[in-house]
Amino acid sequence: MQLIYEKSVPARRAVRMPSSDVPAAAMLPRELLRSEPADLPELSELDVVRHFTQLSRRNIGVDTTFYPLGSCTMKYNAKSLEDGARISAPFHPMIALLPGGESCAQGSLAMLHHMGELLAEITGMDEVTCQPLAGAHGEMTGIMLIAAYHRAKGNKKKYVIVPDSSHGTNPASAAMVGYEIVTIPTAPYGDMDLDAFRAALNDEVAAVMMTCPNTLGLFNPHIKEICDLAHSVDAMVYYDGANLNAILGQVRPGDVGFDVVHVNLHKTFGTPHGAGGPGSGPVGVKKALVPFLPMPRVIKRNDASFGVETGNPQSIGRTANFFGNFGVMAKAYAYILMLGREGLIDASEKAVLNANYVMARLKDLYEVPYDQTCMHECVFSAARQMQHDVHAIDIAKFLIDKGYHPPTVYFPLIVKEAIMIEPTETESKETLDEFIAVMREAAETAETDPAALKLAPLTTPVSRLDETKAAREQNVCFT
Ligand SMILES: *Cc1c(COP(=O)(O)O)cnc(C)c1O
Repeated sequence: MQLIYEKSVPARRAVRMPSSDVPAAAMLPRELLRSEPADLPELSELDVVRHFTQLSRRNIGVDTTFYPLGSCTMKYNAKSLEDGARISAPFHPMIALLPGGESCAQGSLAMLHHMGELLAEITGMDEVTCQPLAGAHGEMTGIMLIAAYHRAKGNKKKYVIVPDSSHGTNPASAAMVGYEIVTIPTAPYGDMDLDAFRAALNDEVAAVMMTCPNTLGLFNPHIKEICDLAHSVDAMVYYDGANLNAILGQVRPGDVGFDVVHVNLHKTFGTPHGAGGPGSGPVGVKKALVPFLPMPRVIKRNDASFGVETGNPQSIGRTANFFGNFGVMAKAYAYILMLGREGLIDASEKAVLNANYVMARLKDLYEVPYDQTCMHECVFSAARQMQHDVHAIDIAKFLIDKGYHPPTVYFPLIVKEAIMIEPTETESKETLDEFIAVMREAAETAETDPAALKLAPLTTPVSRLDETKAAREQNVCFT
C-alpha cells in the first residue's frame, strides 16, 4: 500500500476555499510565520476517503475481533466513553495556571479531584496522583516516592525485591530509580517462594514490588504476611495494579497492607490503548507517602472551589503535567460513574469467570503449568504440542488465519512456550466458545498435521516475518 504522500498529485484538491475578500490582518508575529508552504499531500476527497478506509481495514482491534492478549486487558471500550472525553473540557486544564484562569477550569479540576477520590476509594489508599502517563511511569513515580520517604527518614536502603512472576516493568522501574533488584523465584503453586523471600529480606530493602495477580494470573494467598514481613524492616510494599479488573470491588490493596499502588486506566478502566490511544497510570499512596506526591496537585478548598497547589518542598516534583493524560482520565471517569459500585464488582467477577471458563475448557489439550483457579487470565504451555515440533508461535499464527488476534506468547518468561489468554469481561459466552473451538482445532492439528501449522498465516499480506529484522528495519510500505 502506498503512503498518502506517494499518492499526491500537484494541485489536486479535496476542498477549494474561496479566495479571501477581506484584507489580510497581521495576526501572528512575522518570525512565527512559515517561509515555505507546508508539505501536505494533494489529493481528491475520494482519494483521501479510500486511503483511510483501506488503512483502517488492515487494522486489528477489539472493534474487529476477539483480542485475548494476556496482561494487556483488551476489553471493549464503550463508545459513549469517547463522548465523555469530548464534552469534558471547554477549556484546556492548563488555563488553571494562568493568572485569573482558575475559575474557567473549575469543571476540569473538579473532575481530576473527584477521580483521585474515586481511585483512592477503589484501591483503599489515602491519596492519589493522576499525573503518571502510563503503567510503567506510575511504577517509577511510586518507587521515587518510596525513595523520597526513605531519604527523609535517613534510612539506608539499597534493594528492591521483585518476584520472578512480576511484570518486567517492575524491576526495570526500580532499577531506573537506582535500586538493585533481588529476584525471588516462584514456588510450585505459582506464588512467591516465601522462604526465599524471608531469606532476602533485610534492613537494606527499600520496597517489595508485587504484581497482583502475578503474571501467571494467580492471586498470592500470603500477601498479608508478605506485607507484614516487609513492614518489619521498614520496607514499603508496592502493588502493581495494572490489571485491577481481577479484583475490583473484591479486595482493596490498601486494606491488605500495601503502601503504594498504580492502576492502568487504559486496561482496567475501559480506555483504549496500544495503537488505540495513550495511557494513564495514577498512583495511590498511604499517608506516610503523601508529603512526597508529585506537584502541582489539584486541591479542594474549604469554600468548595478547586485550585492547583504548587509549593511543597518534600515533593518529588513534576512527573508530567498536573492534569496527566486528561482525555484518558475523562473516559475512565465516565466508565467508573457509568458502572458504579455494583458494575465494577460485576466486571471483575465476569473477567475472572471468563478466564476460568477458557482454562477449564482447554486444559485437557494444553498443559497448565500452575494448575490453580486463576484470576483474570490463564496461562498454558505448548509443551505437549512441542512433541510434534509445534510451538506457541505456530498456534498464535494459526489463530490469525482464523480471524483472532493471538494471545500473548512466550510471556511470562518463567513458563516454557507460554500462551497467556485474557478474555476480559466484555466477551460473550458465544465468542469464548468459538475461540475455544479454534484452540482445540489447533491442538488437534498439531497432532494430525503439524506441518500445516508451520505454514500459517496464509490469510495475511505477508506470512512469517523475520521478527528481529522487522523490529530493526521498519518498512511498512509493502505492496
Ligand atoms: C501493562 C502492564 C504494565 C505496564 O503498563 P504500561 O502502561 O504499558 O506502561 C505494568 N504491569 C503490568 C502487570 C501490566 O500488565
